[in-house]
Amino acid sequence: MSSLFPILGAAQNYAWGKIGSQSAVARYAHDNDPSLSIDESEPFAELWMGTHPKAPAVISNDKSKKLSDVISSDPEKYLGQSVISRFGSKTELPFLFKVLSINKVLSIQAHPDKSLGAQLHAKDPDHYPDSNHKPEMAVAITDFEAFCGFQPLDQIDALLQKIPEFHQLVGADLAQKYHVGISKSSLSKNDKKKLLQAVFGQIMKTPEDVVAKYAANMVARTNQQPEVFGSVLADLIQRLNQQFPGDVGLFCGCLMLNHCFLKSGEAMFLQAREPHAYISGDIMECMAASDNVIRAGFTPKFKDVETLVSSLTYSTDPVEDQKQKPVAFSRGSGDAQFALYDPPIDEFSVLQVKFDSKKGNVATMKGVDGPSIIIVTEGSGEIAAKDEKAQKAETGHIFFLAPRTEVVMSSKSTDAPFTLYRAFCEL
Ligand SMILES: [Zn+2]
Repeated sequence: MSSLFPILGAAQNYAWGKIGSQSAVARYAHDNDPSLSIDESEPFAELWMGTHPKAPAVISNDKSKKLSDVISSDPEKYLGQSVISRFGSKTELPFLFKVLSINKVLSIQAHPDKSLGAQLHAKDPDHYPDSNHKPEMAVAITDFEAFCGFQPLDQIDALLQKIPEFHQLVGADLAQKYHVGISKSSLSKNDKKKLLQAVFGQIMKTPEDVVAKYAANMVARTNQQPEVFGSVLADLIQRLNQQFPGDVGLFCGCLMLNHCFLKSGEAMFLQAREPHAYISGDIMECMAASDNVIRAGFTPKFKDVETLVSSLTYSTDPVEDQKQKPVAFSRGSGDAQFALYDPPIDEFSVLQVKFDSKKGNVATMKGVDGPSIIIVTEGSGEIAAKDEKAQKAETGHIFFLAPRTEVVMSSKSTDAPFTLYRAFCEL
């Protein structure tokens, strides 16, 4: 195989995905492999681009061959020595790159850090299948909406005072203790976090039927007195109640977590032990290869309430601080803009390469010392490894790129920018 070759991702039809060709996942998968038909009644939630055994990428012109087969035929060439030594695999990439098309809220969740991941896996391997941490980053490709981290303490307090059902669910004593405590200057930051933890824990430990009763009353109130909530929050509660009627997430998510909006090109890095959930929109997502999830709400799956309540950081950083700001990519040059999203972990970085809607623009990327996956998300052009023949690069096309390989890209589309996303690992 050459150093740059086309691959096919694996679409996943989870129920929360956008339906049929409304889904970027379906469109990309079909554009990359026209033999794949789009069922207009089916949800297309995720497109996996990696070596995960559950849904491995395959080679475009030989679908019987997996990307991991090619990698294991010459790990030194396709992963590089530093990645092999650091992560210990001669077959698999250290990251999984995905496209997500979100129609319905995903479960509110948090991921363990490395030490908690190891503890949970030792104690309960059925629910925590590996001992790894699971850093994740989302880069919006359309307008994107999510929950990320706890709201500032006083904002939660304001909602607690204003919304009777929230107050009743938490209980008058604890609500009062929280209200007084968080504004006390003599109380340490840590003690204030404990108050937040107590409120969150109280909600999570309330039986589902009791939560559902308060939720029904609160949803009714969003219609009768929308001014109590404000229009954005009233709309959010109504939408998510339609998706998960009476769910605890209406309280622990809508009323306690930051409701964030990202524009195309904005990114969010999800720290370990921070609660989050994706609500709507299309994103590129990159994560370390792991399945460790601690769930809190909007899910029919197992919830480990004890672990969840005890393990969150309860930090209340502003939304802007949670965003992963892009920086310059020093190895890119030419007629394209490069934006590098480089979170503070080893497993991955994501690069956006964008050409104006103009034919014939050319840009170059010097090699990086690790494997990459590249996907074209809009427009069309060509891509070539240095000294190799140029290949068509159209919307939905995906490529694997070996370490230390310089690539040249040129744009062809005049109706849309030519945009590529590249995930890579470099230590
Ligand atoms: Zn997550």
